[in-house]
Amino acid sequence: MSRREARRLGLLAQAQGGEQGAVLATARSSVRYLSGFTGSAGALWIPAEGPATLVTDGRYEEQAGVEVEPPALIHIGRDGWIRGVADVAADASGPTLFEAESLTVADYESLREALPGMAFVPRRNLVRELRQVKDDEELRAIERAVAVAESAFDRLLAAVDWSSSPTERDVATALEAELRRGGSDPLPFDPIVAAGERSALPHATPTTRPIEAGDLVLLDFGASVDGYCSDITRTCVRGAAEPWQIDIHACVLEAQTRAREAIRAGAPGRVVDGAARGALARHGLDGSFGHGTGHGIGLDVHEGPSLSARSEDTLRAGNVVTVEPGVYLPGRGGVRIEDDVLVEEAGSRTLTRLPRALIGL
Ligand code: ZN
Ligand code: ZN
Repeated sequence: MSRREARRLGLLAQAQGGEQGAVLATARSSVRYLSGFTGSAGALWIPAEGPATLVTDGRYEEQAGVEVEPPALIHIGRDGWIRGVADVAADASGPTLFEAESLTVADYESLREALPGMAFVPRRNLVRELRQVKDDEELRAIERAVAVAESAFDRLLAAVDWSSSPTERDVATALEAELRRGGSDPLPFDPIVAAGERSALPHATPTTRPIEAGDLVLLDFGASVDGYCSDITRTCVRGAAEPWQIDIHACVLEAQTRAREAIRAGAPGRVVDGAARGALARHGLDGSFGHGTGHGIGLDVHEGPSLSARSEDTLRAGNVVTVEPGVYLPGRGGVRIEDDVLVEEAGSRTLTRLPRALIGL
């Protein structure tokens, strides 16, 4: 049985909970996970019994034929995917579970109109739950995405003439080019390059601000390989670091190390978050860390499980999560260190190999 067929059967067994029901996957990443189809328009209908059907439109007919393996079927809808699902599912009985996070209200209403006799039941984490545990092939793709991002970063540091005070945008553009040249598929997110006081904005967009001596420079970037993402952050300093910059970097590194040490199968996400937050609290810096400690990565750059104070997730062997505490001092600057970490039965393996020291530019 193919890997994807096994995933579909596992999904049905988990989703049905003893009752008969079909599953409709509509998130692009879930459709890819369950069928291999990488196109941007389509849905996967998985009936309680019998083969699954990928529903897409004429633009993707040839691509779907190459990517979707039997026993899964392909249906080319002539009037959009909703009409296509209605054609394929016309004879089905029982409820249809769908991904609550990805179906729009408009599409939900159209589906109910197209299939008035069918009960559509929203379910959170329907496919995402299954996607959280990576198999060996998925792990290898993530490892390659990490390696592509790391070598792009190394080449970037060597290639940029830092003494010419390049702008954040110059550096971001050069980093994007290195990531693509190094083998990344379309980037999973636009790299963040934030200098000086702007590094205190956790999700800054690169601007024309020049990077000057004395600036902290925060770079958050990732690659994607075979659909799987990496997500890495390193913080640098232009010229000689000031004592406060060295201090907050050391505190973030300690928090990041404590969080990675807390990772193992069975650890609650909020306990890992607490390990990072507790380390910062000992230095009086927990008030300067306003986001969660990490998130799962995979076909999406943000997926489960979550490492945050409110997380209800428990880590399982095979999860791959980011660990990314930060300290942000408004008006001065910020530091974040982000690694990608594989959860194992008795501990963890950090996939990122880049040094974590404060990097001088
Ligand atoms: Zn990141
Ligand atoms: Zn991240």
